[in-house]
Amino acid sequence: MSRPQITINRHGQDRIEQGHPWVFKSDITHVQNTSTGAIVDITTPKGRFLGRGYFNPASQITVRLLTRRKEEVDRDFFRTRLCKAIARRNPAAPSTRLVFGEADFLPGLIIDRYGDAIVLQTLTLGMDRLKETWIELIEEQLHPKAIIERNDVAVREKEGLLLQKGILKGNLPDNLVVNQNGYSFRVDPLEGQKTGLYLDQEENHLAANRYARGRVLDLFCYQGGFSIHSASQADEIIAVDSSESSLKILGENLALNQIQNVHTLGANVFDYLRSCQNQGEPFDMILLDPPPFVSSRKAIQSATRGYKEINLRAMKLLKPGGILVTCSCSQNFTQDMFYEMLLSASKDTYREIQLLEKRGAASDHPVLFSFPESAYLQCWIVRVI
Ligand code: SAH
Repeated sequence: MSRPQITINRHGQDRIEQGHPWVFKSDITHVQNTSTGAIVDITTPKGRFLGRGYFNPASQITVRLLTRRKEEVDRDFFRTRLCKAIARRNPAAPSTRLVFGEADFLPGLIIDRYGDAIVLQTLTLGMDRLKETWIELIEEQLHPKAIIERNDVAVREKEGLLLQKGILKGNLPDNLVVNQNGYSFRVDPLEGQKTGLYLDQEENHLAANRYARGRVLDLFCYQGGFSIHSASQADEIIAVDSSESSLKILGENLALNQIQNVHTLGANVFDYLRSCQNQGEPFDMILLDPPPFVSSRKAIQSATRGYKEINLRAMKLLKPGGILVTCSCSQNFTQDMFYEMLLSASKDTYREIQLLEKRGAASDHPVLFSFPESAYLQCWIVRVI
């Protein structure tokens, strides 16, 4: 029997040849000898080989490219990819993303390290079928005390996979604490958001420290990444989040770092900002790091309204010359949209704004040029005149 093979149309061929690793269902014209999860050859209508990837007919992204060469896709192949991704990271970083999916040439795979614990996400069927291989390769290469699975991520449903989480190997230390830039952070890889920490914001936490002064407002604070990094420069920080469990860990982090000038508040940020209108002293710096508002392309309009509301209200609460650190982690909310939203908010508040820094995710979440989807996080630092 010949190798499993799919043929794609010109449109799909163009995308693959430009370096993108996805084949959409609508671009497939012919399927031969394939089965769910199989490694398939991708070919042009004339039969020219384009690459090899894994196949999931249940997903709109039906094939994800693994290699452009005629090489075996086996355990050695994945070991080499893993070792190369690890080698691109800072070996001394106690908490870091070791594998960032497509951007590390391992589509659908996330591996995060928190000290001796490793968190694994297999977000696609192709990667999920390889879970045992990944557990073995992680043990062989990283020797962790625990491997945790955080496969409770909604994107798995698009692949026909169940949502699940748990300990796959070893024992999770009761009080896992990691050091980031000299600060201690409690991490709960099982119950925390994402895989425990927002590792993608780590370098932006440090950047905020450079601008912090006076009265600071940290909105959508989670466990205090921004607050803890800014506390030494500020007189007072108010940190707001709607998640009580996150604020509890933030309290533990404050104690661990002997910080006394951060006050936590459990509230919905939209309500809190409305309640701040026309009352209280203005702020010197406001941090805005909301959850993704845009889940699909269709939701862009309502998301823009949400972003504009919080940015506009934050601008009103800043002293002249105050600093706004404003983020979006919505995949479909482009830089142009962010720019227009901020411009519109500044016009409505009669405040001029100056861009100081336009930042992205930390460098352990590299943006692969041929995979623009990897550039999901924006962090703009602006001065509000
Ligand atoms: N700034 C954090 C990450 C924030 S993630 C860091 O750098 O580590 C987004 C946070 O927003 C989550 O903690 C979530 O609990 C919180 N959140 C979501 N919707 C909210 C709302 N409407 N009001 C307040 N907090 C909200």
